[in-house]
Amino acid sequence: MNDDALLKSLGLSRCIALIAHVMPDGDTLGSCLALGRILSLQGKIVDLYCQDGYPHVYSFLHGIDKFRKPEGACVEYDLCVAVDCSDLGRLGKCSIIFEHSRQTANIDHHISNTHFAGINRVESGAAATGEIIFQLFTEMGTSPDRIAAEALYTAICTDTGTFSFSSTTPRSYRIAAELLETGISVEDITSRLYRSHRPERIRLLGKALGSLELLADNQAAILKITRDMLDECGADDSDTENIINYARDIQGVELGILLKETKDGIKASFRSKERIDAASLAGHFGGGGHKRAAGASIDGDMQNAYRMILEILKKYFREP
Ligand code: 5GP
Ligand code: MN
Repeated sequence: MNDDALLKSLGLSRCIALIAHVMPDGDTLGSCLALGRILSLQGKIVDLYCQDGYPHVYSFLHGIDKFRKPEGACVEYDLCVAVDCSDLGRLGKCSIIFEHSRQTANIDHHISNTHFAGINRVESGAAATGEIIFQLFTEMGTSPDRIAAEALYTAICTDTGTFSFSSTTPRSYRIAAELLETGISVEDITSRLYRSHRPERIRLLGKALGSLELLADNQAAILKITRDMLDECGADDSDTENIINYARDIQGVELGILLKETKDGIKASFRSKERIDAASLAGHFGGGGHKRAAGASIDGDMQNAYRMILEILKKYFREP
């Protein structure tokens, strides 16, 4: 069975690469760091990769500076594990490391996962990949130390919206409780994740909120972030994390949308409250994700993306 194959492969491999997805979030970063930590303690050589830089809020995580970008000649690893990636595209430029490895594995919780690796451990019932990593430690006969626990708590806390999304289960809380037993400080982690924003981000938030528009008879809310807005605030892509929540969190709004200008086009993010399947909506644009949080890349400029969104909203919301 695949699960045994993963344990066996982790056990036998000496040089292992762990890959976080493009535009990394707390789950992919925390899960990579925790797994990397435990494997390193077992004497393995572990390298962490991510195509993009990490959001500033995660700089407190132990070992986060070890993430490198794929460049130059590619080392051949015994095993390469994609962490929290629903498909090969989510690895970005790191796919070259994946393709050059002797064995490949995929540890993820996205329902849309394409089982793209040699060994696939996909649990769509897990609220975060961090939950699967925790379970994996148990199966490996080990448990997280304080450093790995801090990374896993960050993974689960961020992907569950601080234990508030519908994906949150009793298991999420049980795992969190076990992580707390290691002595990590919830107050400290919460403060670093949610009360330590850079001024640049808050300035950007002001501009993004200024772009707010209500659509579909006030059932959808859209925010826009342009490169000019980022430049004017001295902000970068990582400062945009969670800004979309302000669109979703408006009374009566079912769907929050964020359109962000990138070098290659427009990144669209979707967050829903109860009725709309965000993953299926993102699928119309070639993207994916979860029921309540999903995203996609749209070619062309902001105006084009905006027009496409207006069209798709007609399918999802009845005209007033
Ligand atoms: P975000 O909107 O924060 O970038 O992403 C929300 C969720 O949607 C995440 O779970 C992420 O994995 C997924 N997602 C975001 N962008 C894409 C995309 O371009 N393709 C796919 N398949 N999933 C995406
Ligand atoms: Mn995740």
